[in-house]
Formats: sequence, structure tokens, C-alpha cells
Amino acid sequence: TNIDVASPKRTKDIINKYGFTFKKSLGQNFLIDQNILRKIVGAAELDETKGALEIGPGIGALTQQLAQEAGRVTAIEIDNRLIPILQDVFADTPNVHVEHGDVLKMNLPELMEKQFAGLSGISVVANLPYYVTTPILMKLLEEKLPLENIVVMIQKEVAQRMAAKPGGKEYGSLSVAVQYYCVPELVCIVPHTVFIPQPNVDSAVIKLSLRKEPAVDVEDEAHFFRTVQASFAQRRKTLMNNLTAFVGKESREQLTPLLTSCGIEPTRRGETLSLEEFAALSKALLAAGF
Ligand code: SAM
Repeated sequence: TNIDVASPKRTKDIINKYGFTFKKSLGQNFLIDQNILRKIVGAAELDETKGALEIGPGIGALTQQLAQEAGRVTAIEIDNRLIPILQDVFADTPNVHVEHGDVLKMNLPELMEKQFAGLSGISVVANLPYYVTTPILMKLLEEKLPLENIVVMIQKEVAQRMAAKPGGKEYGSLSVAVQYYCVPELVCIVPHTVFIPQPNVDSAVIKLSLRKEPAVDVEDEAHFFRTVQASFAQRRKTLMNNLTAFVGKESREQLTPLLTSCGIEPTRRGETLSLEEFAALSKALLAAGF
């Protein structure tokens, strides 16, 4: 039992012992590479005073490494078939707690308060199920959980969109939402050979360091995000055209002076606007009654 869960042999042994079969619908691709695990755990900057919240532990490859670095690990797993396996694997690891359930339906503030009381900081560290990456990350950010950072393995394209700067085709409402709350940093690109079974997309590890204050000052957060959504509604259209749908055709003439007052050329596209410009735009739209 001292052998790393992530070694290909131990993984196969566990799978055979319990007769476990992978469910594609739950995004089950388990890690079998120690180097990648070390990179993920290293990026989270844990020590014994910190807590790690893991989403989707699988059979515990990452959980095991986290337990060696962090003071306490709480791992949320949706698949009931994995719960007895995890309980066996971590029977002698008292700082690991396994919680059965769907992370999207869970009361995370309550769970964190209960599990991480007295610790000096909390990280989310996970190899996420790719079918729900964005909903999971948006839940973590929108609930404003007391996190220091989030280090996750996700689909490469999604990681690139999160870290994208204005001007490129990867920059969109996901980039703005993530960068409003966090400073993103691409840790590494990961080949599919480190998983069993191998996914048919490329993966990347991204680190999101949570800001103490949002990146820009906005009057009304919900309005700011509606403005961003509206600006990206149809990517090939100008801001003027996308925002016409937002304010209504009858108010279209008001847009040119409004955009100009924010220092934004009406012929620009949403994908060229910085977070500061979106914040100014949202404020101006609000002030004009939109
Ligand atoms: N951490 C393990 C590893 O790296 O080997 C497994 C990662 S696997 C990509 C994703 C895991 O998330 C699976 O164990 C899956 O059952 C679990 N999962 C999927 N949807 C979930 C949800 N909504 N809530 C909690 N866990 C979920």
C-alpha cells in the first residue's frame, strides 16, 4: 500500500481488485504519471497549515500526493462505486476526508467551514471531469469561496480561453469572468498518455490565483457580466451591432455617443475590449438606463 496510487501497476491492481469500470459520462480519466501530479501539487503551494479541496478524486492518485503536502484534504466524489475504494486506499491516512456527492449541488461554504477550520488557507486542486469544467469553476468563483488558488487539469482549449488576453480569437466571456476574479497562469500542457483511459482531447494545468479584490471596480456585477455576454453575443459583429440587441433597436442612436464617452470606437468588436473597458461600458449603460 506504500506504492503510489498513480503508478500504472497500482492503478490496474485497484481497478481489477474492485472490478471497476470507467464511466465516460462522468469524465473518468485517471492520472498515472507522478511527474504531472508533482507539478499540479507544487503549483498549489501547500504546506501542513493549508487545506486542499479536491473535486473528483477517482481512485485517489492526486489525493495521495495532496495528503503528503497539505494539512487536510477533502475530496468530493460523485460516483458511489468509488467511495469504498477511496475509503480502503486512505484507511490509514487520517488527514483525508471523502465526501460523496455532486460538487455542483453541494453546500461548499458549509463543507469547507467544517473540514478546514483552523487552517491558514485553502486551495482547490483537481483533475476535473471535462464535461463540467466551466460550471464547476464558475460555481467556485461566483460563490466567492475563501480560496487562495485553484489548480486544475482541464481541456487545453478551455485553459487557453481562460488565460487569453484581449484581441485574440480565444478571448471571450469566459476569459473576462475568470480574470475578473483571478490571475490565470498556464502551468503546463499535458499529453494524453498520462491518463487511463486516454481522453481524445489535449489537456493543460492552469493555476488561478484569487484576487483579494476583483480586477475592476464595477457598480453592479450582474450588469457587468450581462454587458460582457451581450458584447460577445455574435463574435463577427461590431460592438455597435451586438449592443443594439442589448439596448433595443429604438435606442441604437444613443450607443455611438455612449461608446465614445467611454473611449471605445463603436466599430470595435467585443473581443478587443479590456476588463477596464467593459467596466466603463457597463457603468455608462447603467447610467443611461440600460
Ligand atoms: N482525480 C482522479 C485522477 O486524477 O486520477 C480522477 C480524475 S477524473 C478526470 C474526474 C473524477 O471526477 C471522476 O472520479 C468522476 O467520477 C468525478 N466526477 C465527475 N463529475 C463529478 C461531480 N459533478 N462531482 C464530483 N465528482 C465528479
